[in-house]
Amino acid sequence: MDYAAALLAKLPGTSPRRSKDLRRLIETLESYIQDDQIEQITKAYEFGAHAHAGQTRISGEPYISHPVAVAQSLAEMHLDPQTIVAAILHDVVEDTDIPVSVLKEEFGEEVAALVDGVSKLDQMHFTNRAEAQAESFRKMMLAMIEDIRVILVKLADRLHNMSTLDAMPREKQARIARETLEIYAPIANRLGINHLKVALEDLGFRYLYPFRYAVLKRALKRSKGSQRQIVKKISERIQIAMEEEKIFGEVHGREKHLYSIYKKMAEKKRLLSDVVDVYGFRIVVDDVNTCYRLLGIVHGLYKPMPGRFKDYIAIPRINGYQSLHTTLFGPKGLPLEVQIRTKDMDTVAEAGVAAHWQYKAIDKTTAGPQRRARDWLSHLDEIQQTGTSEEFLES
Ligand code: MN
Repeated sequence: MDYAAALLAKLPGTSPRRSKDLRRLIETLESYIQDDQIEQITKAYEFGAHAHAGQTRISGEPYISHPVAVAQSLAEMHLDPQTIVAAILHDVVEDTDIPVSVLKEEFGEEVAALVDGVSKLDQMHFTNRAEAQAESFRKMMLAMIEDIRVILVKLADRLHNMSTLDAMPREKQARIARETLEIYAPIANRLGINHLKVALEDLGFRYLYPFRYAVLKRALKRSKGSQRQIVKKISERIQIAMEEEKIFGEVHGREKHLYSIYKKMAEKKRLLSDVVDVYGFRIVVDDVNTCYRLLGIVHGLYKPMPGRFKDYIAIPRINGYQSLHTTLFGPKGLPLEVQIRTKDMDTVAEAGVAAHWQYKAIDKTTAGPQRRARDWLSHLDEIQQTGTSEEFLES
C-alpha cells in the first residue's frame, strides 16, 4: 500500500468524494516534500474538516472541499508545507469559532500567522482599481512583507471561488468577476505569476461578459485548425535553423488567452481576425548568449518589424520578467511574435514570485520567510533602478 493510501486509511469517516480530493493533494505533495511533513498536512485536513463540519459551499459540497482545492493549486506551484497547511485552514478563523491561538498551539506560529494574515486581508476592501494599483499595491506589499505567502493563498482562494462561481446568482457573479479583473488578476501580474493571471482573467471575463465570452470562444474555435498547421510549419523551420547552428532548445507555439484577445480588440478597436492572425512563439534555450545568437538567426529567417524589438533581458519588466521579444513578418506577411529566453527566465515568467518560494526538501540553508520576501523586493528594486522599462514609467 502506498503512503497516501496508508494515511487515508487512518482518517475516520472520510467520504469517498473527500478522500479523492485529499488523495490527489497528497499525490502532488509526495513529488516534492517529505513524508513527515505530509503527515502534518493530513492532520490539518482532519482538523479543518472537523472545524467546518456541517458547513457547505453554495454548490452543496462539504465546505472542506474548498480549502483542499486551494491547497491543491499551491501544491502544484510546489509551495512549502506551512503554506499548504495554512491553505487548508485559511477559512477556519473567519468561518468557525476557532481562534488563531488554537491554530498556534496545534500547528505552530508560522501557520497561525499565515492564516491570520489571510483573514485580515479578507477584511481589506478595495473599492476601485486605482486603490489597488501602483503605490497602494506597493504599500500593501510592504505591509505584507512579513509574508508574501499570505497573498499567494489569497490568490489561490480567489481562483477556486472563481471556478465555482456557477452556483452564485448572476448579480453576484458580475461583481466578483469585476473585482477579480480589476484587483486580483493585476496582483497576480505584479507578482509575475502568469498562469494565475491568465486563469483569473479568463474566468473574470467569462462571468463579467458571458455573451462576449461565448461569441469569442466560438469564433476562436473555428480558426484554430488552420492556425495549428501554420504554427507547426513555422516551428519546424525555426527548429531546423537552430539545428544547423547547433543550438539546442524548445520551440513552442503560444496560444493567446481569451481575455488578452478581447482586451486588444476593445482597446485598439481591432477586428477579431486582425488580433487572431498573430502567431506567438516561445523559444527556450540554455543561456543568455544563445538567446542573442538565436535572435540574429530568426531575424535572418523572417524580416523583423521595425520598432517591435524589446530587450527585457537587459531591462527586465517590473515584476522580474525577462525575455527577448521581437515581431517578424511571417509567410504572407502574417505577424509572428517571438519570445526568446533561458530556462530560468521561463520558470520566472510562469511562476514569478512563487518561484522564490518553491520548496526543496534538501535545501537546508533556506532563509526565513521575511528574509526571502525582502530579498525578492530588493531584487525588484534593483531591476527598477537599472531600467527605463516602459512599465515602470507608466506606473
Ligand atoms: Mn476561502
